[in-house]
Amino acid sequence: MENIIVRNDASAKKNNQVCCCHCSGTLVVRNGTYPRNHPVNNVEIRVQRYLCKTPECPWQSFSILPEFVLPVIRHVYGTLLSCHAMVKKGMPQAEIARKLGVERGIAKRLKLFCRKFMAWFVREKTITNWGTNPLGFWPDFTRDFSQSFYPDRWVK
Ligand SMILES: [Zn+2]
Repeated sequence: MENIIVRNDASAKKNNQVCCCHCSGTLVVRNGTYPRNHPVNNVEIRVQRYLCKTPECPWQSFSILPEFVLPVIRHVYGTLLSCHAMVKKGMPQAEIARKLGVERGIAKRLKLFCRKFMAWFVREKTITNWGTNPLGFWPDFTRDFSQSFYPDRWVK
């Protein structure tokens, strides 16, 4: 009986093991956090950063993003979808800015990014494993997102 419990614990632990998103190595240590805003209540959340200690790995650090939080950009997934929906309705930029609670300049840049993002999203969701609902595949989705929009971060 004890053996079964131990084995279950071990496999549960293995499933929750943090892997480096560059080399899939598990030799990782925590290395501080950085702030992002929670999409719903706008409260600051801390994103855990890790160092990869696998000698063969060409990268030193990575982070595991909570669902909704996108890499690099300061906007969350839901904000992109909301912005896209408002643009499609023909809503003026000032109103989009007001509804999203951002300045007009930010709304303008967000609209431009949204156009690129939606074109990419519509194309990619038919060929990737994250499909129409990336929230269940957040590490894969954020990796694809980052490789497509910020490819120089992946060149070493
Ligand atoms: Zn690594």
